[in-house]
Amino acid sequence: MAVSVPAPVLDNPLSKPGPARLRDSHGRVIHDLRVSITDRCNYKCVYCRTGEVGAQYPELAIPEYLRLIRLFVDLGITKVRLTGGEPLLRHGLLDLIRELSQLRTSTGQRLDIALTTNGHLLDSLAAPLRQAGLDRVTVSMDAVEEPVFERITRVPGSYSAVLAGIRAARAAGLLPVKINCVLLRGFNDDQIESFAHFARREDVIVRFIEFMPLEEGRLWTPEIVVPLREIVERIGRVLPLLELPPNDPGETARRYSFADGKGEIGIIAPVTQAFCGACSRVRLTSDGKIRTCLFSQVEHDLYGHMRAGASDEELQQYIVRTINQKEARHHIGEPGFLKPSRSMVHIGG
Ligand code: SF4
Repeated sequence: MAVSVPAPVLDNPLSKPGPARLRDSHGRVIHDLRVSITDRCNYKCVYCRTGEVGAQYPELAIPEYLRLIRLFVDLGITKVRLTGGEPLLRHGLLDLIRELSQLRTSTGQRLDIALTTNGHLLDSLAAPLRQAGLDRVTVSMDAVEEPVFERITRVPGSYSAVLAGIRAARAAGLLPVKINCVLLRGFNDDQIESFAHFARREDVIVRFIEFMPLEEGRLWTPEIVVPLREIVERIGRVLPLLELPPNDPGETARRYSFADGKGEIGIIAPVTQAFCGACSRVRLTSDGKIRTCLFSQVEHDLYGHMRAGASDEELQQYIVRTINQKEARHHIGEPGFLKPSRSMVHIGG
């Protein structure tokens, strides 16, 4: 069966001596792959889902994700983050992680495997995930007061389930446990100071995220965003902070330790302090499409080529060609800004 082979690739990392490195046309090295393995979710967070729209996209079989991830790793990917929807809902997740933990990067290192979850099922799965080879976990949690938390998730009993999941992840050694809190003015910005105390009490790294226009409904406005500057000021008034250097150049969070040395927080500020210049990420959706940017208006049907019979080499040429087209940056808040063709729950964090 004839397969449309993309034009010869200008800059194939596999044709060069030394470890493969994926670069885009802006000179950025892309080493972080985020893979959504389902867009189903057991939560209906008010800022993410209207609650009317359920899962919309098909899921690949676990061995198909494995083949595609392996192709990316051979091209220079060193970190894989599994996301959703809610990835813990996906059968075969433990097998996928077990297989991924056998992969070696183009420099012969063990692949860095992380996962983002809402934590609802984490209490019983933390230890098996660790045994399968997962390195770290990030839990999405938008409040530390039960009523506020459950008003956001719209799932009764979710708060105690997530807290138990976080503690189980720490006990299992999925460290450091990071907490992602999306801040919306008027929804949960009253949780900022309490979250700082929570980070110290639970020994987790809380990262506050500026709300991005990726929701299903029409909630986003510039006024609803709580900017980095305000978060630092508010926490600094109760618990003085010291800024820390990034762990690596592509890290999205600005890091701060508490002045007394007891704990750390982070702030991810894509709206007021965009970090696109050092972006090292590419995404694969649950139905096998490459998204070169969270805010892409176009998607690239990698799985379609695989299903059509493309060889590993042809698929890798397609990946390299697609990465070459990666957008320079997002245009949030600018005239003519268009929301992406999919909302966050259908893309994956
Ligand atoms: S908006 Fe796009 S380019 Fe910017 S950091 Fe996010 S994924 Fe990278």
